[in-house]
Amino acid sequence: MLVALPPDRGIVWKYSNGKQLAIFRGKAGLFVPKGRKGQNTGYVIKLEQTTVTFGMRFWYLCPICHRRCALLYLAGDLACRRCVNPAYESQNTTRLNYLADHIRTLRKQLWPEANWNTSDLSSGSQYRPKPKGKHWRTYETEQQRIIDLEQERERLWFKSAIALLNRQRRKNGDSKSL
Ligand SMILES: [Zn+2]
Repeated sequence: MLVALPPDRGIVWKYSNGKQLAIFRGKAGLFVPKGRKGQNTGYVIKLEQTTVTFGMRFWYLCPICHRRCALLYLAGDLACRRCVNPAYESQNTTRLNYLADHIRTLRKQLWPEANWNTSDLSSGSQYRPKPKGKHWRTYETEQQRIIDLEQERERLWFKSAIALLNRQRRKNGDSKSL
């Protein structure tokens, strides 16, 4: 369930079973009460500000992993997407594997008699020669499709690598993210 909290005031979230979750804006951040009414227990979600072109932007600090995030999700407690759904990161791995397979297949189709290693993904398809008998236009279209996939894979790979490094840094007690 998605909760987009306005950072400047509290909200009351109503469940379909009639229960309510109230969130108040306090000095320290957002206060989420827990337990029975009147009891002053709960937890605080801290906010962080960053400067953007037109003023300030608010972020939530996930109460579980303390990462900065734009949205909080509700699954028992409020937390960021990674904490609520640990499968999220493995989606990247699934996509990376899919892209690798797909790129290799398309390369083999376009260059069935390649004199270079089409399954080696450390080199790109940009400067590969046109196979004999292929029309230039067809060749360029098919080649571009492969290059686009290669670029998507590279970006995603880089993103995953950074996420992995940041996890490692947090484990070592370094609060700053790359
Ligand atoms: Zn989190």
